[in-house]
Formats: sequence, C-alpha cells, structure tokens
Amino acid sequence: MAIASINPSTGITIKTFTPLNDTEIKDKLNLGERAFLDYSQTSFVKRSQLLENTAKILETEKIELAKLMTLEMGKPLKSAIAEIEKCAVVCRYYSENSANFLADVHIPTDANSSFIKYQPLGIILAVMPWNFPFWQVFRFAAPALMAGNVGLLKHASNVPQCALAIENIMQKAGFPDGVFQTLLISASQVANVINDDRVKAATLTGSENAGISLAIAASKNIKKTVLELGGSDPFIVLASADLELAVNTAVTARMLNNGQSCIAAKRFIIQEQIADEFEKMLLEKFQKIKIGDPLELDTELGPLATVDILQELDQQVKTAANSGGKIITGGKPLEIPGNFYQPTIIKDIPTDQPIAKEEFFGPVALLFRVKNVDQAIKLANDTPFGLGASGWTNNEQEKQRLINEIEAGAVFINGMVKSDPRLPFGGIKRSGYGRELSIQGIHEFVNIKTVWMR
Ligand code: NAP
Repeated sequence: MAIASINPSTGITIKTFTPLNDTEIKDKLNLGERAFLDYSQTSFVKRSQLLENTAKILETEKIELAKLMTLEMGKPLKSAIAEIEKCAVVCRYYSENSANFLADVHIPTDANSSFIKYQPLGIILAVMPWNFPFWQVFRFAAPALMAGNVGLLKHASNVPQCALAIENIMQKAGFPDGVFQTLLISASQVANVINDDRVKAATLTGSENAGISLAIAASKNIKKTVLELGGSDPFIVLASADLELAVNTAVTARMLNNGQSCIAAKRFIIQEQIADEFEKMLLEKFQKIKIGDPLELDTELGPLATVDILQELDQQVKTAANSGGKIITGGKPLEIPGNFYQPTIIKDIPTDQPIAKEEFFGPVALLFRVKNVDQAIKLANDTPFGLGASGWTNNEQEKQRLINEIEAGAVFINGMVKSDPRLPFGGIKRSGYGRELSIQGIHEFVNIKTVWMR
C-alpha cells in the first residue's frame, strides 16, 4: 500500500510520501541504538517529567491533532478529541505509576538477598493500525519509554501525517533524539527491521495476517512479540437485562469509530423473549444515526478509512445475505463521494456459515437469537477470536456464568467493552497474545532479571 494521506470523506489525496530506503532505515536504527545507551540510564523522575510534558502538549494541541486524524482516517471529530485526551491520560498513568511497577521485588529464599529487577531491552518496534492512530501508539509508547526502552514506530500507510506528528510531539516534550522515531516504511520492509540485531522485540496491532507475518519473522530471531489482533466480540442480552440501556449501549458499541474498532460489539446475541423488542429498538436507533462530514461535531457516523475497507465490508454483507442472513436495514454503500456505508443490521445468519464468525469492520450489526444462557455462551464462543465480550443480565448466576465461561481477554457485565489504562487489555485465541496497559503492559518489554546474592 502506498504511503499517503487520502481524505476518506472525499477520496482526494492530500499528500504522498516515499518509503525510507535501506540506508535511511540503518541510520535510524543506529540513532536508536545510541539513544538507548544514555536513555536507559535516566531516572524514573526524568522519564516521568518527559511523559508529563507529552501529556501537556497533547492537551494543548488536541484540536489540531484531532483534525489531522479525522482528515486522514475519517473518525468523527468528537471521538478524535476524546482519543487525544485519553492519550494524555495514559501518559500520566505511566508517569505516576511506573517507578512502583518496576521497583525491585524482594523474595526471601536461601540467599542473603534475592530479588527481581526489571531492566529495559533496547529498541522495540511497534507496528500500528490506522483505526486509533494516536491511542494505539501512546498505549505502547508510554510504558515502553517509562521502562527505559526506545521506540520505533511503523504506522499504517494511510496515516503518515499522524505518525510524523507523534514523533514531533515526543521531540517537543524533550525526549532525546532517537528515543522515539517514526519509520515511514511499507509492510514488506517490516521483516528486515525485525531481523536487525539492534531491534530487541516487537508489538503489532492489526489483522491476523499481519500478526502472523511479524511473529514468524520475530520467532526466527527468537524475539518476543505482543500481538493485538482482530475480534468479533459478542454482545449478549439476556431477558432480565435493562433493555433500554442495553440497546443504547449496543448502538454506541457498534458504531464507535465508524464501526472500525477491534473491541466493537459485532455479534448481538439476544434471548428470544426480548429479541423482537431489542430488534425494533435497535432498528429505530440505527435509522436515526447522523451520517456526514466527520469534521462536524454532531456527526455520529463518518466514512470508512479506505476504499478497500468499504469494498471488503460490502462483499461480507453480500456473502451474509447469500448465506441466509436477512438485511433489515442498510446493506449498501451510500451513493455520495467518500467511503460511506449505511448503518446495517443483518439477522439470523445460520450460525454454521463461515461468514457468521468473521469480523465485520464497519457499521454492520449481526443479530442472533438464542433460547437461554447455555446457547448464548456456546454461540459467543463459536468464533476463532477471543478479544472482549459484553454481557447484559440482572441475574447473578448468569453473570457468574458469563464471567467464567466466555472465552475472551475481557468480559464486561452490563457495560460496553472499553480500554482503560488501569486495566490490562488483550486477547486470547486468534485475537492475539500478551497484554497492554496496567502493570502487565509495562512488564511485556523488560528483562525480568532474577538476582541471587550470598
Ligand atoms: P493491518 O492491515 O494488519 O495493518 C496494521 C499494521 O500492520 C499496519 O501498520 C500495516 O502496514 C502493517 N502490516 C500489514 N501487513 C503486514 C505484514 N505482512 N507484515 C508486517 N506488517 C504488516 O490491519 P488494519 O486493517 O489496519 O487494522 C484492522 C485490524 O486491526 C482489525 O482486525 C482490528 O480488529 C485489529 N485491531 C486490533 C486491536 C487490538 O487491540 N486487538 C486494536 C485495533 C485494531 P500497512 O498499512 O503499510 O499495510
């Protein structure tokens, strides 16, 4: 994919970029390696100050940064502003807590003194997606840099200006040269970067195929990876749930980021007693969604990020219909310029059809009916993914069953799945491995060194 900013609301190319060549990549790796020697020796107090500076810059420049995101990938401006604010929150969270998370842990043994010491690894490569162009990067960078590592960002090819803006913020915040660098490279150049001895580990957020490619390249070099991949998250509503709240949340959870979120609710699994009512209420709300220019503050649904995503989604909807699903609203791209897709509901796709298990990355809700909690759990787990799950019930036993039996990295009861710096985030099954955020996130890219002294 060419490295270019193309406005998804108009299809107009704003700017194109030439990928770095091998020599330019080598220069950046040399700089990163040199930067690590000094930066890894800095105190937590110093690193905290740099992250605090970063948080302040994000807050001061949030409107311009949010507009840049909206221009490159079509996110409604209101959500873009909220995303920048959340990046400031994650910077402060790690600025305030990392010294504690990485303090030596003393463990009594037969030694005079034995303890765990956390040490940085070196250059960490982050391959990131376009859907949360700032949040995905900051949730990696804040803990990685606090731990004393240095970061190299290969961002998605459709958000190069966001990638450069993030590098610029880090420089303005005072991080020494080379501590955080953006590499404008294509996906095909990633394996060479991970093969380089100076790169010690990598994290990737994106599709399964991208994750597999990175993990293969990394494993050939015995380098650790964290993978945050796709999801087809279930949103289970059982008969005792607060229906109004569940439906309102269902709309937000599906439409978040124009439907392009890994943890968006994608499969709505509804107990049959309330299924007609849920469907009626959801349909009314989908038909009222305000679609339009994502730069307008009251727009609820903007365009999909690229033409390819639009075409892929449209193809999935056609496959769902051909596999027995019934489209009850939407089902087509909007006939206006840009990558707009109608809010769409498809019900009753036979659950043995492969399309029922796929991830729909856009404003398309799949509705399924079940008789009871047993069937709900079985269907929720009938997917290769295991990222998040949202369960709605006021029955205590059902709550426990959902918590214990759903195969996912996170289960939210009577709420929508969301990320929070204080809680670990990540998936199981084909949604990936490893965790971001919280104490677990900062422990992914450190040497957990055992020290034993007589
Ligand atoms: P994508 O095509 O996999 O791209 C993600 C990143 O990987 C981009 O930087 C991309 O670069 C790079 N990439 C693609 N193929 C690669 C390869 N073979 N080797 C190395 N790097 C490669 O994914 P996307 O379409 O942008 O993102 C959507 C997917 O991400 C969805 O499945 C979504 O659920 C998932 N996601 C997961 C999380 C999570 O936390 N679990 C969060 C957000 C999104 P180019 O742009 O240059 O191709």
